[in-house]
Amino acid sequence: MPCVCVCVCDSLVWVIDSDLLYLCTVVVVSHDLQGKPLAKPNPICDFCLGDNNLNKKTGRTEKLVSCSDCGRSGHPTCMQFSASLSLVVRTYRWQCIECKTCHLCGTSENDDQLLFCDDCDRGYHMYCLKPPIKEPPEGNWSCGMCLKPMSALKSTDIIPNLQN
Ligand SMILES: [Zn+2]
Ligand SMILES: [Zn+2]
Ligand SMILES: [Zn+2]
Ligand SMILES: [Zn+2]
Repeated sequence: MPCVCVCVCDSLVWVIDSDLLYLCTVVVVSHDLQGKPLAKPNPICDFCLGDNNLNKKTGRTEKLVSCSDCGRSGHPTCMQFSASLSLVVRTYRWQCIECKTCHLCGTSENDDQLLFCDDCDRGYHMYCLKPPIKEPPEGNWSCGMCLKPMSALKSTDIIPNLQN
């Protein structure tokens, strides 16, 4: 499989893997080592029981995403992630639904108040947001972190050779 790596900045390397874009996991792991240790990633998808080489539902090669707290893994498509979400969750310490904590206060209490960003899957308590929200928003919701970089970052600028 052709692998096209394009340096975006000093730290990020984008890898084109079949028709989805992935961040080099090697690079991402070295970033994460600055924080608390990552859980050992489970090499098997929790949903289809495939691995890094095979998504048993689609029969295609797909890299797993692993929870940084418990190590549970899943293929992005098995978790119904969009192509952009499956890319973004590899750029930070993603947590599975069981381990999800609020990005702002760092706790998992009041999980009925947790909102999940549609663009990055981070969790946020409605009352931790500034300004706080009382009701869960209808439809898609994006956190402040996603609204900024996503508009500043045009994918066409980053991946010049996507067609190859
Ligand atoms: Zn799977
Ligand atoms: Zn987890
Ligand atoms: Zn919170
Ligand atoms: Zn977000």
